Amino acid sequence: MTDNLKNLGRTTQTIHAGQHVDAATGAVAPPIIQSSTFAFADCAQGAARFAGEADGFIYTRMGNPTIARLEEAVATIEGGAQGLATGSGMAAFCTVVFALLNQGDHLVGTSSVYGPSRVVMERDFSRFGVESSFVDTSDLDALRAAIRPNTKIVFIETPANPTIVLTDLAAAAEIAHNAGAVLLVDNTFASPVLQRPIEYDADVVMHSMTKFINGHTDVVAGMIIPKDDEMRARLKPVHAYLGACMDPHQAWLALRGFKTLALRVRAAQDNAGIIAEYLETHHKVEWVRYPGLKSHPQYELADRQMDGPGSLISFEVKGGVEAGAKLLDTVKLMTLAVSLGGVETLIQHPSSMTHAAMPREDRIAAGITDGLVRVSIGCEDVEDLIADFDRAFAEV
Ligand SMILES: *Cc1c(COP(=O)(O)O)cnc(C)c1O
Repeated sequence: MTDNLKNLGRTTQTIHAGQHVDAATGAVAPPIIQSSTFAFADCAQGAARFAGEADGFIYTRMGNPTIARLEEAVATIEGGAQGLATGSGMAAFCTVVFALLNQGDHLVGTSSVYGPSRVVMERDFSRFGVESSFVDTSDLDALRAAIRPNTKIVFIETPANPTIVLTDLAAAAEIAHNAGAVLLVDNTFASPVLQRPIEYDADVVMHSMTKFINGHTDVVAGMIIPKDDEMRARLKPVHAYLGACMDPHQAWLALRGFKTLALRVRAAQDNAGIIAEYLETHHKVEWVRYPGLKSHPQYELADRQMDGPGSLISFEVKGGVEAGAKLLDTVKLMTLAVSLGGVETLIQHPSSMTHAAMPREDRIAAGITDGLVRVSIGCEDVEDLIADFDRAFAEV
């Protein structure tokens, strides 16, 4: 199935990947195989499955038919080996770090990564002697300078959260590989519809499927996509035993969301383009950061490595934190909530919410100013969103 879909369009891929008709029943929608364990025909078959010499399922923490469909679906569009599904995006990140780093190794990451990814490195993995540092990876010289003899993972988030700063994927892959390190890319913000890091030589891609891939704000889930079977073999044993696995019902919901990924991403992006221009010309807005605007310092890079600028916009209201809070308290159609990538528009204030756990000086250094507002544009009718902004700005 994966091979047949390789050269087809993104929309076709998202609708058909992992969606083969069920052989046992003819069901068009995938069955939810809600079973923790799987019977062996005989002892020889059980032994062969444990030895990895025979295909087939053993125990759901180690693999499950419904989850496998989702692992195949996301891998198809990312262009990697079969994925490893996890219970959350954070479980995906922690599994990769746990699998690839030893005591004394070092990870260098994007300074404005998703807050908890940074916290878990600095507060928790550090307790096991795993080092980390975070730099502005959009500055390739800064990234090169941050490489240490013990650097084993270069961890890039592009576009980064919530600064919407991009990192050059091909250049980061070259820097990582020259240092003998692996390039890990958090592709949550772009989604595989708009960006496929393995095409730029990334070794491992991770997703919070909670966001665009599921897309309906009703599931927390993650995915790891290794570039090939060799990398998969390095990650799989830890994934099987760490306990960060997914549940079959969660996989089924994410598979359903995945079918409309390309449609949703394009609809939200069309809205975001219009709203970014609206904000950029609004007299109460200080600045706007959106990769589809010519004013974005990396407009060219976005055009080169992404198939579109996506639907996340950051901006600052004139009057700083207070004015921003007033806007957030006044919108009605948009929901004041963290998370992103759903069909509904969500608006939030990173320095008091998603990135509040970061020390202020680190936050400012990472470009997350006190007044920065992040909006994840959804699939509503754009006139309604603009009317909501108009109404709220009038109160600011
Ligand atoms: C949400 C998010 C995560 C964490 O994912 P969960 O599913 O919430 O565990 C990681 N990276 C990015 C970019 C995210 O937006």
